Amino acid sequence: MAGAKLLLVAAAEMDENTLKARLPQAVAARVQSLKLREGRVTAILGGAGLDAAAREALEAAVTEVLGASEGVDEVRVAIMADKPAAPAGPVIVAVGSGKGGVGKSTLTANLAVALARSGRKVGLVDADVYGPSQPTLFDTEGQRPQAENGKLIPIESRFGVKMLSMGHLVEPGKALAWRGPMASGAFGQLVDAHWGDTEVLLLDLPPGTGDVQITMLQKHKPAGAVIVSTPQDLALIDAQRAAELFTKGSVPIIGLVENMAGYVCPHCGETSDPFGRGGVEAAAAEAGIPFLGRIPLSLAVREASDAGSPPAAGDGEGADAFRAIAAQVGAWLDRRQGAA
Ligand code: ADP
Repeated sequence: MAGAKLLLVAAAEMDENTLKARLPQAVAARVQSLKLREGRVTAILGGAGLDAAAREALEAAVTEVLGASEGVDEVRVAIMADKPAAPAGPVIVAVGSGKGGVGKSTLTANLAVALARSGRKVGLVDADVYGPSQPTLFDTEGQRPQAENGKLIPIESRFGVKMLSMGHLVEPGKALAWRGPMASGAFGQLVDAHWGDTEVLLLDLPPGTGDVQITMLQKHKPAGAVIVSTPQDLALIDAQRAAELFTKGSVPIIGLVENMAGYVCPHCGETSDPFGRGGVEAAAAEAGIPFLGRIPLSLAVREASDAGSPPAAGDGEGADAFRAIAAQVGAWLDRRQGAA
């Protein structure tokens, strides 16, 4: 008896496979289960990405093809609900430096503006506890973010970049006293905010490679990191430490940027190299890290930055350099998305 039963099951399975083969390929690809019992077909199909009309059409197609098959009296079709898409959240890109004063905040702000100008939805988190300068760079000083359902709502700067800064949460100078847990707690609030449809979130990390940076990177692991350095040897050694910090945390390094790479004389327009030249590119090559470009040391960059008007928002000095670097970061983002 057992043998006869087995044979019956095998026959039914064969029929099911034959039935499935009758379906157009695109429909068959959606079949999760197809059973034939006593003349009744029960087909379960995945409905991912289909609207109501497409679901109806799919059901009709299955019913028609299978219903016309020999030995089938009835067709029941169930189309499974689309799985709710997991909230993707923005891709986090950290901007770090081995030490302060090398232009990390200036680069982060201008990268954000240039990426936004190229059509991306960009957010920026200023996690520099010791000297949050993004509110000055974006002319949003004194603004206080609102909260909704326990989460902060980013401030819309007038440069098409949404932002949140430690400087928006505390009085100027007060954040300096923060250490460890307090700093990383506040950082969490800035990253876990209502970023909406923001695609890329740039993190302006505190300078250095200490516990605060490590905790921040562990809690909110960036998809990639950009490191900025000036060309001097000392700054470069620190930049290499920053590279190690990311590598140890398995954060891919998108590339190195050389800032203050040659002084553009505001009078004669000639370029000189007060801090040397090419050091960062050479160090990047040695470490096997991409070199993303250099930004000149320019009075116009500093003045525009201090005035709350990021150079990348205009067409003045430095704008092209920032845009060229942003284009490389954009290409990295596209490659990453293509690989996903
Ligand atoms: P960090 O974030 O690394 O501490 P900042 O971005 O705050 O550095 O820059 C330090 C100072 O240097 C600021 O006054 C800024 O305007 C100035 N600065 C940064 N990059 C340039 C540049 N390429 N040319 C001129 N000044 C610059």
